[in-house]
Amino acid sequence: MIGIDRKNKSVTVRNADGSEYTETYDKLVLSPGAEPLRPPIPGIQDEVIFTMRNVPDTDRIKDYVDTHKVRHAVIVGAGFIGLEMAENLHHKGIRVTIVEMAEQVMTPLDYEMAAVVHQHLKTKNVEFYLKDAVNSFVREKSGLQVRLKKRTFFANGYGDPLHRSTSGQQTC
Ligand SMILES: Cc1cc2nc3c(=O)[nH]c(=O)nc-3n(C[C@H](O)[C@H](O)[C@H](O)COP(=O)(O)OP(=O)(O)OC[C@H]3O[C@@H](n4cnc5c(N)ncnc54)[C@H](O)[C@@H]3O)c2cc1C
Repeated sequence: MIGIDRKNKSVTVRNADGSEYTETYDKLVLSPGAEPLRPPIPGIQDEVIFTMRNVPDTDRIKDYVDTHKVRHAVIVGAGFIGLEMAENLHHKGIRVTIVEMAEQVMTPLDYEMAAVVHQHLKTKNVEFYLKDAVNSFVREKSGLQVRLKKRTFFANGYGDPLHRSTSGQQTC
């Protein structure tokens, strides 16, 4: 669809061969998808920060992980997709740290059920910081610093409150 004529209740559609036609409607429902939201956090446009919404996003992340031999990934947000990412990156042998501003992962679940997931994450050595949120990302020589409200660490190094890694590992 390339145009809407609300007055005459019609849309213009362009075919793959370039030809166009007009279609009328009684009610119009627009569902063309959406772009992932990048909240206005300083440093969020850094090239090693990815958003996740569709298959091309998955391909981009996998390609980066494989070509840069990523050892550590930080996931912001522990909803369904954040946890799916954590699971898949963990399966690839990458150290994973999750940051979630709520007091639990998967907020639609009751706390008692989320506690089971917390326990599972611990048994898999997946780090997670709850009740904390990202304030900024700062690019430094040794990696991307992730500054939370309560702590700061490098995306490629252990550390709390601040650890400077010199390993040169790539991050995402
Ligand atoms: C890792 C991952 C796992 C997920 N797992 C689940 C799950 O298990 N269950 C679940 O329910 N959801 C899941 N989701 C979410 C789900 O994929 C999305 O919420 C859903 O695809 C959004 O659907 P949509 O129709 O809004 O947009 P889209 O799927 O993006 O569809 C929009 C369509 O509109 C077309 N379009 C855009 N502009 C125009 C135009 N001008 N004219 C004509 N066509 C146009 C696009 O080509 C596209 O085909 C997952 C998402 C991710 C990232």
